[in-house]
Amino acid sequence: MIVSIRKAAEQAAGNTLSRVRKAKGRIPCLPRATLICAIAKAWPANGCCANPRCARELDWGRGKAEAHSPSVHKVIPARGYVEGNIRIVCNACNTRIGEAGTIEATQAAIVALQWQLSLLEGM
Ligand SMILES: [Zn+2]
Repeated sequence: MIVSIRKAAEQAAGNTLSRVRKAKGRIPCLPRATLICAIAKAWPANGCCANPRCARELDWGRGKAEAHSPSVHKVIPARGYVEGNIRIVCNACNTRIGEAGTIEATQAAIVALQWQLSLLEGM
């Protein structure tokens, strides 16, 4: 259970900055202190994934990211980790959204998943 949004935002900012460093400048990102504030501001007050159709309770994984681990989602990936472009979702949602950062890419992912669903339902 996450008891302090500030501490959770610091942890999430650390994870995010690590990802940004690995991308070697290809992802725009706020400086650490500002990023922490932006993440804290975006943190869902109910402590659950910002995707209302998921609403999984957020909690840190045990030594690694798990489905319920908080994850900083970039609505438009190219804009990066800046205020207004981030949502705090569960790791499962963020992984599933992947690189679908445009309307076209999101529609293509939906079409592919609908096809997969029809295959599974037919088995
Ligand atoms: Zn979720």
